[in-house]
Amino acid sequence: ASTPYSDYIKGVIRTVRDWPQAGINFRDITPLMQNRAAFRKLIDAFVHQYQEQEIDAIAAIDARGFIIGAPLAYELNTSFVPVRKKGKLPFKTLSETYKLEYGEATVELHADAFQAGERILVVDDLIATGGTMLAAAKLIKRVGGEVVECATIIDLPDLGGSDAIQAAGFKIFSVCS
Ligand code: AMP
Repeated sequence: ASTPYSDYIKGVIRTVRDWPQAGINFRDITPLMQNRAAFRKLIDAFVHQYQEQEIDAIAAIDARGFIIGAPLAYELNTSFVPVRKKGKLPFKTLSETYKLEYGEATVELHADAFQAGERILVVDDLIATGGTMLAAAKLIKRVGGEVVECATIIDLPDLGGSDAIQAAGFKIFSVCS
């Protein structure tokens, strides 16, 4: 993960120790979003990375993935598809359950989210164990989408998530680690 913005973006992310429980260093992106120059640079970094990639849709992960996914979809002129936590999507869904850095979770995707062969970019704020991103990528494949890449603001490489996602055959882009 190295873009012209990596160090700058890293500098506006706050680490909150022992939250939401002891032993977790929570990477808080709210200072990044409050800083209008930083937020714009962040979206620009993703736009620059993907503007020539012929992306059809952004699949953004509930909830912080939505914050980057929506402006990115607008800028890249793609559609926007939410990958949501269990029980939030109203129509027919597919689901994947996985382990988190803390706890267990299920993500869901609407069965009609993509046309077969559409080129999808998956986005979330952070990759820790990689479970969330991997579950989302698997859901997208199950409904016939082609996962172009998994993009995130922050990768925590020591937790092995990005390695696991790549081992499963998906590409990763992170703005900083
Ligand atoms: P994982 O599935 O373990 O890769 O966890 C990634 C998801 O959980 C992302 O949606 C993050 O928003 C959230 N998450 C996990 N660990 C952290 C952390 N240390 N700081 C901030 N968010 C985290």
